[in-house]
Amino acid sequence: MLHKLLLLTNFIFLFRLFGDAHILLYHRFGDPRYPTTNTSLEQLQKDFVYLQKHHYKVIPLQRLVKALQNREPLDPKWVVITIDDGFKSLLKALPLFQKFHYPFTLFISTKPIQNRYPDFLRWKDIKEIAKFGEIGLHSHTHPHLTDLSNEEIVKDTKKALKLYKKHLHTLPKSYAYPYGEYDKRVKGLLQSFHFVLCNQNLGAVSKKSSIYDLNRIALVGKSNLPQALHLKYLPTQWIEPRTYPKDGILKEVALKIDPKYTNAQLYVTDYGWRRVKVKNGYIKENLHLKLTKRRVRVIIKVKHSKINTKILVRSRYGTE
Ligand SMILES: [Zn+2]
Repeated sequence: MLHKLLLLTNFIFLFRLFGDAHILLYHRFGDPRYPTTNTSLEQLQKDFVYLQKHHYKVIPLQRLVKALQNREPLDPKWVVITIDDGFKSLLKALPLFQKFHYPFTLFISTKPIQNRYPDFLRWKDIKEIAKFGEIGLHSHTHPHLTDLSNEEIVKDTKKALKLYKKHLHTLPKSYAYPYGEYDKRVKGLLQSFHFVLCNQNLGAVSKKSSIYDLNRIALVGKSNLPQALHLKYLPTQWIEPRTYPKDGILKEVALKIDPKYTNAQLYVTDYGWRRVKVKNGYIKENLHLKLTKRRVRVIIKVKHSKINTKILVRSRYGTE
């Protein structure tokens, strides 16, 4: 009896130990001039109290990367915090990060810092911040990468690397796409610099995630952190569409998921959620949706908040 009970508790223990981690994304703090990218200090404190109360462990991005590289199981209580752009308002939030001992990765665009744009941190601030946070790269000029040629992307990245090295005397390990915009071509180019790549696709990180395609959940305004942490990773093979449709009409979505699911929900930017049928793990939806945004998210979701996102970005270069 005792033996059986031990087995059972072991099983529950294992079950709780393995799962999906989450990467959060913030931009500005305590700066109500920009409601679409701002998190108030009160909200940040609330988020941190929630993480602490529910025993989440905020770990450095590189710890998660190491676990993925070593194929270690991920702890579902792991949370990584990232901050994009390098706005000066981070200085207001730093005491909170320090109070909770929460590490973070700050992704900086080097041009606004180098040119001392008023809203941005200075290199001296970043040097200080680098003592307790990782500094990642977020391009030089914060461009729409899919609209740049290969040469322009390489040039922008090399410029950013040069300034980073000059001021921080080291090289960045990670890169976050400006606006979360990328396609296969952009990804391939940045991967050749050996960066860990962070996207801005809604979803969790599982042991099946690639370090070159890490999902991040953006939190702004009254963030719904509990809901964000509830999301799980759905392994998905996206078949169609492969790129942003040239005529701007989304005609078909086709993908493969675990055949154990019989129905799912599909989301397309501007069109919301719809129920879709799954046949032997295969989903094929004929649509005729006119896309108006340059950035369109297609999301597949099954029960227990398991999701996967495919981003389609309009590109002047039209390649994959
Ligand atoms: Zn940005």
